[in-house]
Amino acid sequence: MSSALPSYEEAAALVAAYAVQLAAFRPAVERVDAGRAPGRVLARPLSADRDQPPFTRSTRDGFACRALEASAHMRLNLVGATRAGGVPAGPLPPGSAWEVMTGAPVPPGADAVVMLEHVEVANAQVRLLPSRTIAEGENIVAKGAQARKGDEMLSAGTVIQSAQLALAAACGHAALEVFARPRVAILTTGDELVPVKCAPAPGQIRNSNGPMLAAMVAAAGGEPWVLPTAADNAKALDTALAQAADADFLLITGGVSAGKFDLVEPALARAGASFHFTGVRIQPGKPTVFGEMPHNANSAGSAATKARGAERPLPFFGLPGNPVSSAVTFLLFAAPVLAALAGSREPGPRFALARLAPSANRHGKPGLTRFLPAFCNFSSPAGQPPEVALVPWHGSGDIVALARSNCFLVVPDAAHSLKPGAIVRILLP
Ligand code: AMP
Ligand code: MG
Repeated sequence: MSSALPSYEEAAALVAAYAVQLAAFRPAVERVDAGRAPGRVLARPLSADRDQPPFTRSTRDGFACRALEASAHMRLNLVGATRAGGVPAGPLPPGSAWEVMTGAPVPPGADAVVMLEHVEVANAQVRLLPSRTIAEGENIVAKGAQARKGDEMLSAGTVIQSAQLALAAACGHAALEVFARPRVAILTTGDELVPVKCAPAPGQIRNSNGPMLAAMVAAAGGEPWVLPTAADNAKALDTALAQAADADFLLITGGVSAGKFDLVEPALARAGASFHFTGVRIQPGKPTVFGEMPHNANSAGSAATKARGAERPLPFFGLPGNPVSSAVTFLLFAAPVLAALAGSREPGPRFALARLAPSANRHGKPGLTRFLPAFCNFSSPAGQPPEVALVPWHGSGDIVALARSNCFLVVPDAAHSLKPGAIVRILLP
């Protein structure tokens, strides 16, 4: 039976293709203050309101000059000085130099800036030290070298972080047009679950997937909508799915294995779902299901849904309830779909290479790609790749190991074992 399940690569390709299709549905656009924009997705291209840089600027404290004259070690007459914020009074006469500070405009006629440290100054004259020469263009950035007025500097779909905010500020954008965040319903299921504020009775555990997935959704650009936990019976699940059908995206945890009380798949089918896959050859996370179901017919939906039209289906994932499984399968499969719904061009998942720590030695499981909680030291000595070690764990329910990890070691299904010192892939959060 399990050989009929897609491999990790096949499932990932299917999800990626689905995400590409979703890009046809443009989310609604809203305007937010730039200060609230980090993590949001740019909905319209960001253009330059003036040349960048807006004037030919010095990148050093020093003397604007003509490179040919300076390199001939002529004594150049010091004829002016401009600091950042100032404007040079006129063009640079031949045979002269103009003192400039970092960020100051360079006078017309100058084609280089010699650094303060590289000249001798005497009697209001400047001379480049004999051991040095300077080339045209050195230590200056020409007006418009980075962008011309009206140029597109960032395209729609760019995730806004600090550097993009810096650019927006430089170009006078105090507010930005971003895509509405998709509303992501998070439905935890299980008779054993109680909310964190309740005292668990014997046999009960606290719902940890709800808060975990809410944080993962928010970090991936979605608006988490945490629904009350649904009990393991058909009626409770039908009611919960009817409510969840108002969302743009649905994440369900638990109830997707083959156990007696794993009732989520039949409930999804009753809600009109079609399935893209019902299991993947990975560990943890094998029972993951992916599909889509209809939105509520009478649903007002969120702003994002309305903009995409009523026909757009509601994608969902049924993630296995064990917390490590939920975390891994969110990163591998749900995050790329969420990124597409958010209008982002950076879908993930993100992988990196690292060197397996000396003590680590991991055997693969035939036919399964494994994603094991691991800790990667990204601050390894210069010239060394990051080093990753497995975090000891007690299986996919081990939240302690999960919280002590900062990545997952990828053990390819073909690998019989990974040897210490090997270069390995890691899945990043
Ligand atoms: P299931 O996928 O429903 O078979 O659940 C697998 C395991 O994950 C069981 O031990 C559950 O108790 C546990 N589990 C399911 N849902 C959650 C949750 N929301 N928070 C913490 N553990 C959970
Ligand atoms: Mg369960």
